[in-house]
Amino acid sequence: MRDLPPPPPIPDHACPRCGHRHDAYTSLGADDQVVEPGALALCIGCGALSVFDDGMRPRPLTAGEAFALMTSDRWPEIEVAQEALQALRAEREG
Ligand SMILES: [Zn+2]
Repeated sequence: MRDLPPPPPIPDHACPRCGHRHDAYTSLGADDQVVEPGALALCIGCGALSVFDDGMRPRPLTAGEAFALMTSDRWPEIEVAQEALQALRAEREG
């Protein structure tokens, strides 16, 4: 297993759905840790998906982007991540 470089910092930002503040990220399975405009973001606060805009701020997916994602090969790993977050939140909330 190769060592990955630490991810570059991203601007502090809030989830467009729940307002949860984010100042870091973790890749969901990409080989590298590069995040650039157009990359997907999964909120650790609510599980919502968003897309980084040109200023590296998350915006909600358009209906077309959401449909394309849900019919892509990436959808199963995203669903697993959303379910894991849901289980973590349920565990924390007792
Ligand atoms: Zn959120």
